[in-house]
Amino acid sequence: MAYESKSHKERSKNHFDVIVVGGGSSGMMAAGRVAELGKSVLILEKNPKMGEKLKITGGGRCNVTNAEFDIHALLSKFGKAKDFLFSPFSQFGVQDTFNFFEMRGLPLIVEAQKRAFPKTQKALDVFKIMDKYARNGKVTVRTNSPVTDIKFSDGLVTSVKCKADSYTADQFIFATGGLGASQTGSTGDGFNWLKKMGHGVEKSSPNIVPIKVKESWVKILSGVSLISMKITFFLNGKKSFAKTGRILFTHFGLSGPLILNSANEISALLHAGEVTGTIDIYPNSDFSKVEKEVLKVFDTYKNKLLKNAIEFMVPAGMSPGIEKLLGKEMCEKKVHSISKEERKTIVHLIKSLPFTVEGLMGFERSVVSDGGVPLKEVDTKTMRSKLFRNLYITGDLLHINRPSGGYSLQLCWTTGYVAGSSACGLQ
Ligand SMILES: Cc1cc2nc3c(=O)[nH]c(=O)nc-3n(C[C@H](O)[C@H](O)[C@H](O)COP(=O)(O)OP(=O)(O)OC[C@H]3O[C@@H](n4cnc5c(N)ncnc54)[C@H](O)[C@@H]3O)c2cc1C
Repeated sequence: MAYESKSHKERSKNHFDVIVVGGGSSGMMAAGRVAELGKSVLILEKNPKMGEKLKITGGGRCNVTNAEFDIHALLSKFGKAKDFLFSPFSQFGVQDTFNFFEMRGLPLIVEAQKRAFPKTQKALDVFKIMDKYARNGKVTVRTNSPVTDIKFSDGLVTSVKCKADSYTADQFIFATGGLGASQTGSTGDGFNWLKKMGHGVEKSSPNIVPIKVKESWVKILSGVSLISMKITFFLNGKKSFAKTGRILFTHFGLSGPLILNSANEISALLHAGEVTGTIDIYPNSDFSKVEKEVLKVFDTYKNKLLKNAIEFMVPAGMSPGIEKLLGKEMCEKKVHSISKEERKTIVHLIKSLPFTVEGLMGFERSVVSDGGVPLKEVDTKTMRSKLFRNLYITGDLLHINRPSGGYSLQLCWTTGYVAGSSACGLQ
């Protein structure tokens, strides 16, 4: 008898209205929403702290959302998922995200391409608001708590196992993320469970990810960032596509928004053959205009060695790379002894710096990973699994392609909020 009452007590201690597995961006939003609606909620997070990925978003500045307030224009960025997302975005859209953070004392500012950031420019401030929201009301947060197994039967999730304990709930929200930046905790556990439970899980591949480049001139420029470059990509020497935007040189190759947002197309090209590219560092000036500028520099610095004059022809920090491409012999010449052909070579280079793509970087460097639960298996109004009546799926676990620009986090706020509301019976 004594044993029975203890086990009953034990059971109720480990029972919650809702359990959220994963305390990342969408999990914190979902748990906070559940608590706001007055239900008891347990967050199980395997890291020592919640929101590790959120803290590094947007290069530490956190691109919270995209300030596109026209729902149709916004959804057009989500490709095939746009119809599915209409209902959830009508429940919690971009304006709601602005209101959410601004009402909590964190104003947002809008930068180029409608990217919205906290005015403080600190991802940590976004995290602090989410952490506080997720800890409001009847929330129990257990960090250092990896879920290792899920029990389910007859279309219901029955319990989750974490260390020696087993937790039960009326509703469960899976928010364990995809495979992007797996060092932040998202190692694909959710995909494995969902597969075991009978869900289809589209194969993951790194998306919104930097590229590996062969040439050393690129790598020695590591850390240099160029604001408005044009890159043209070629497949087996034939022009494929071109884009203009910001790039960042790294010790392995190239990153920055232009590259990250080209990763999908580059990945497709890599399957078809050799991918090369050229960088035009002055896309708004044609060859003859650049040549005129180069001539001016030649005139002013005619008695300098070429290697010491390059910095006056290219954006800050670029000269070591150009020097490498031009070769030692030419760079050691005095400017006045550079021939007309050599000068034209320099102008050509400035307009089309060549590189070879070796591949995409892996999951550890990817902003998001492709793949996940197909949307036909999830109810659009509630984020509820169509296979399990008490299971909701959020954020990067869903198979939704999108570019960089605040769309991923908006997707997390939206799906987290909708899952939280639905788990409390609001839909
Ligand atoms: C470097 C980088 C920069 C980015 N910048 C931006 C940006 O500026 N704007 C933007 O919109 N998007 C950005 N993103 C994408 C965005 O951060 C993600 O889309 C978003 O964080 C995904 O949220 P999520 O809730 O699905 O998963 P995550 O935030 O990955 O959270 C999943 C959580 O689940 C936990 N977990 C996993 N398995 C278990 C388990 N078995 N038991 C318990 N807990 C578990 C993990 O530890 C983790 O805390 C960026 C991503 C990266 C990597």
